[in-house]
Amino acid sequence: MLRGSCHCGAVQIQVPRKPRGLTSCNCSICRRTGGIWGYYDRSKVKIVARRGALARYVWGDKYLRLYRCSNCGCVTHWQPISHAKSRMGVNFRNFDPSIIESTRVRRLDGANTWKFLD
Ligand SMILES: [Zn+2]
Repeated sequence: MLRGSCHCGAVQIQVPRKPRGLTSCNCSICRRTGGIWGYYDRSKVKIVARRGALARYVWGDKYLRLYRCSNCGCVTHWQPISHAKSRMGVNFRNFDPSIIESTRVRRLDGANTWKFLD
């Protein structure tokens, strides 16, 4: 199991294993937040947050909710709004840097084609 947290520690994230790959996306939100995403079934991810610590943001076609710490502002994860969808994204910027260093990060063109650029 791997544990990460936001900068102040109010939001804790646990995932069962290292992701096989990570994604850096250029869509309108990712290019601003700079998240490096690993994807998991949401049943496999545990988020523990202090009361009131999770702020959410929903936009556009309302496909997902993006979560950040309401205290320190670090973007921690996203979840699909529809319960029919189970895949969620975890921002590995909140984990030990060695995970990103040792994992392939692919560049996704989420802004346009939804294809990888590399
Ligand atoms: Zn925080």
